[in-house]
Amino acid sequence: MALKKPEGFSSYFEDWEERTGAFIEYNPELGEQAAAGLSAPEASGPSALALRDFPCAVKDNIAVTGFSLSCGSRLLENLRSPYTATAVQKLEAAGAVIVGKTNLDEFGMGSSTDNSGLKRTNNPWDTSRVAGGSSGGSAAAVAAGLVPFALGTDTGGSVRQPAAFCGVVGLKPTYGAVSRYGLVAYASSLETIGVLSDTAARCRAVFAAIRGRDPLDQTSRDAPASAPPLYGEDGGPAPGRDAPRVIGVLSAETIARAIAAAAIQEAAATGNTASAEERALETAAQAAELEDEVRRGFLLAGERLAALGHTLVDVEIPSLKYGVPAYYTIAAAEASANLARFDGIRYGRRPDWAENPDDLIDKTREAGFGGEVKLRILLGTFVLRSGFQDRYYLRSQRIRAGIRRNFELFLGETPEDTADSPAGLPRPPCDAILMPVFPTRAFGRGDAGLPPFAQKAADLYTCCANLAGLPALAFPVGVEGGLPVGVQLLGRAFAEGTLLDIAETYEKAYPFPHPEGYRAFWS
Ligand code: GLN
Repeated sequence: MALKKPEGFSSYFEDWEERTGAFIEYNPELGEQAAAGLSAPEASGPSALALRDFPCAVKDNIAVTGFSLSCGSRLLENLRSPYTATAVQKLEAAGAVIVGKTNLDEFGMGSSTDNSGLKRTNNPWDTSRVAGGSSGGSAAAVAAGLVPFALGTDTGGSVRQPAAFCGVVGLKPTYGAVSRYGLVAYASSLETIGVLSDTAARCRAVFAAIRGRDPLDQTSRDAPASAPPLYGEDGGPAPGRDAPRVIGVLSAETIARAIAAAAIQEAAATGNTASAEERALETAAQAAELEDEVRRGFLLAGERLAALGHTLVDVEIPSLKYGVPAYYTIAAAEASANLARFDGIRYGRRPDWAENPDDLIDKTREAGFGGEVKLRILLGTFVLRSGFQDRYYLRSQRIRAGIRRNFELFLGETPEDTADSPAGLPRPPCDAILMPVFPTRAFGRGDAGLPPFAQKAADLYTCCANLAGLPALAFPVGVEGGLPVGVQLLGRAFAEGTLLDIAETYEKAYPFPHPEGYRAFWS
């Protein structure tokens, strides 16, 4: 059994890899050997049929035996993984072949992949722009046609935002739907392994292969019996795949208005017209505003979904305006704890000489971690310091619960919760919520880019799905001014099937675009 690597692929690969820098490590031979040694009997079901012999890239913070596990960090630059993550094992069992590891923002912290300590990754649509992040390498590899699908990780948007920047599909599953065993932890309560792929149909096959309870991850779960099926009994499409749905539309204007209103309230409460909080909220309101091209893409997606027979209703999620501060508080707190294990003793690079163990740890971390990682460790330590948990961390947890409740008002709590909606709300409750992914298209570097604070504020459309633990699927709408624009659908817990149904119907009617020079090697 040989890896599907068609004629002319090697030079195509080299050319695109030179332009994009998607991979930290790529090993086609290893891939082919793996393919030759595959035991086919394990692979069965629709997902295996769709994945067998296809090459797959894996973000370099997910373990694959024998491959690099750098997490985009200088500290782990030479680390080889001694084991394989459960999600990757499942892909291999379905016959997929891991061919390489992709670049990322160090430990998954960032929205551009420019925070990688190892290399730069460019957007295949315009190499002067970023691929997004933190799964930028995986998104660029799929967009350039180097692999048909890749694994990424999404803690606050890291699968969906680079997917939107590069014009590919990106799925962040329900929290716990995919085992995190073998994923190097950044913010454990928020993150999931996710899928980047060229089509929604392929995304479904990959997700079907990797999901499910894993005894090695206590937070992993099987989808409940009531969850919408990914495939029918016979392995074909599940009945009702093309059924019309009720889609709630969460417009950027609504969110920007909510943030601005909070700023005014804050000013009134403090009697101070220019308090630090008010200025921060103003910046956040600006960051929430969509670039014209993104707004056009968002409206177009809504029109097309309506043309496909779906019912669109307006929704509001008032607590969303607190999403970003809550997200960064929780993410930094968990990161400061998770990254404590990188001490130069157990893994990775260590200095040639140190005075004592404390000095060894200091020197390792000083030289190994980049600026963004250090910033977050400091921030996390600050919010968790004794006597202050209530002020920051616990408050953020309350906001998190509020955001989840807000979404549940529209979506229902469980997959079977479709009948009775609370008074005054649209009936029936929504099957999915349509939202922007990011306020801008792929941005440039340096002055042409987004300042670091604005990048964080712009995570408001993505981070709420992680805070709520709900699934969200980003897919491309079209190309505006030479760059892709994507939208996302957020759904009920374990209702990835519904989101994929909507996106698949959409992609059949409006096929996804590709960058110039793209060749479709993977049918
Ligand atoms: N941009 C977000 C952050 O920097 C998201 C990262 C992620 O999802 N891994 O934390």
